[in-house]
Amino acid sequence: MMLRVPAISGARAGRLRLLAGLLLLALPLAAAVWAFGNYSARRERSNVDARLVQTLSAASGVYEDVISTAGRRANSLAGEPRVRRAVTRGGRLRVLTWKMSPDGRLQRWRARFLGGAAAVRKVDFTSGGRTVGQVVVFVPLDSALVAWLTERSDLGPDRRLGFAQGNSLVGKQGTVRIQSGALGSSADDIVAGGRGFRAVAEPLGGAPSPGKLMAYERSSVVESKADAARWRVIGVGFGLIAALLALAYFVSPALARSRVSRQERDQADRVLARVGDGIFLVDRDGVTRLWNPAAEAITGLRAKDICSRPAREAIPGWEAIAARVPVASRPGDADDASSPETVPLDLDGRELWISIVGVTLAEGTVYAFRDVTRERRLEELRSEFVATISHELRTPLASLHGAALTLREHGDELSSKTQHELLDMIAVQSRRLADLVEEILITGQLDSGSLRVITEPFDPEELVWTVADVARHRVDDETTIDVTVPAVLPRVAGDAERTRQVLTNLLDNAIKYSPQGGRIELAVEADDSHARFIVRDEGLGIPLSEQKLIFDKFYRLDPDHRRGIGGSGLGLYICRELVRSMNGRIWVESDPGKGSTFTFELPVVQRVASRA
Ligand code: ADP
Repeated sequence: MMLRVPAISGARAGRLRLLAGLLLLALPLAAAVWAFGNYSARRERSNVDARLVQTLSAASGVYEDVISTAGRRANSLAGEPRVRRAVTRGGRLRVLTWKMSPDGRLQRWRARFLGGAAAVRKVDFTSGGRTVGQVVVFVPLDSALVAWLTERSDLGPDRRLGFAQGNSLVGKQGTVRIQSGALGSSADDIVAGGRGFRAVAEPLGGAPSPGKLMAYERSSVVESKADAARWRVIGVGFGLIAALLALAYFVSPALARSRVSRQERDQADRVLARVGDGIFLVDRDGVTRLWNPAAEAITGLRAKDICSRPAREAIPGWEAIAARVPVASRPGDADDASSPETVPLDLDGRELWISIVGVTLAEGTVYAFRDVTRERRLEELRSEFVATISHELRTPLASLHGAALTLREHGDELSSKTQHELLDMIAVQSRRLADLVEEILITGQLDSGSLRVITEPFDPEELVWTVADVARHRVDDETTIDVTVPAVLPRVAGDAERTRQVLTNLLDNAIKYSPQGGRIELAVEADDSHARFIVRDEGLGIPLSEQKLIFDKFYRLDPDHRRGIGGSGLGLYICRELVRSMNGRIWVESDPGKGSTFTFELPVVQRVASRA
């Protein structure tokens, strides 16, 4: 049975990954919020404690006021004559007691005991060094006093005041027992009357038995305040995290898209910078907006000089070119109307041929072009070659045909000298044809890389003499061929037959391009590494600007044979390629009108090798 797994689309998978990432991010945030919530709860508790301490100190001030009022009352009572008389009457100690309510009202207290805890203020009457009477004013530490203090201490809704005496807690509502917990100047938990409280206390001044004034608050209220603080923080924190996650979840695809599109833009810029074709943009107002590095390299025109300038000013001859360049409505339109056009660009006297095509965009037209100067030149040379070859074939063929016809029709009537001359002509012309065919064949082999060249030591001197001897048979009296060789020559590492071919070609050219005749010198020189073959003539010479070009395929100084000197334009090309294939090089020095010197050098066989 085949199990089908539903495919998760790329976008969905991306969202799931994003969600997982966000959750991972949310976990530490949630832990931090939780910790912060707990911290807020603790802080709320300590705020409660601090408020209890504040309350206690305020209540303690009110209490002190009450006690000092009691003191004042006792003093003023003691100052009254009737009280003094009453206290000092008789010989035994008399104590007159008043109970003072917190508002300062006095009430004569006739009971022997004060009844419960109280704060006491006394004035003693002495006589002869002993106390003979006392005026006592006391304030009971009871619910009424608690209510009085409570009213004046601004307690807020939850805090309470009370007095602790031993295990008793006297509050506004009555007295309860303190079951556990210690009372001190810093807040602590106690249990009283079966309920938990947070309480802070300070010893009472003026009370005969040790008592404490205390401020306290129900533990459950404190806890609920702490909880409220905690949950407030946690609620807000979690809300923020959720909002953050939601924002990230919904916004990040847009961010990712914009990042992707920025990456794509950067990539496009990089591609544009590396692409081999020249690319430029001309906007709807005819202003050049982009000129890539390839366009700079091909034309030599700098982007800074071109961009933001009208194309017709910045690009030489642009108006004429633009009229001819086909512009497609979208790239790759293959109809004839939008295939590239080859147009010339005149750059400071240098003619550059470019193949160019345009495509319209919303912003304008983008043009792509490449340099086809070489191809165009080769094409020109090819057509010249066809014309040259036709001419080269026609001339000897006509001579051959004429000579053969003459011999056939009138052979018997001709003198034997004339017959020989005609036969010589047939031999020369057929040789010329054969040479031409040979050149075309070798060129084909060089182009396809199938020409065989061997490397074998040979004697350059012997070769030079042979070539010179053969050539001497073909020159008239106006031309002399001299050979110059040193006494000792090393052997050359190359192909003797190909070297002979090169030398023959150069010598033939020297003869051919010296129509007035003159001295032709064939020389060989050598140093430790190379042998140089030199063919020097006193012929037409070659202008400096052409000296490099003559080694190109099909190149002729006189393509139309105006000077009447035939040739295919292949000879020097073949020479250069053969010399290169033997690890040598060839060059020309020439003075137009005075002659030319062609030199090629080939490596010599090393001495050690030659001894071996
Ligand atoms: P071609 O068959 O036309 O001679 P080559 O390739 O041998 O072709 O020579 C190319 C061109 O170089 C010639 O057409 C000629 O103009 C020039 N050239 C070659 N050799 C000489 C020379 N010795 N003197 C003057 N010009 C020469």
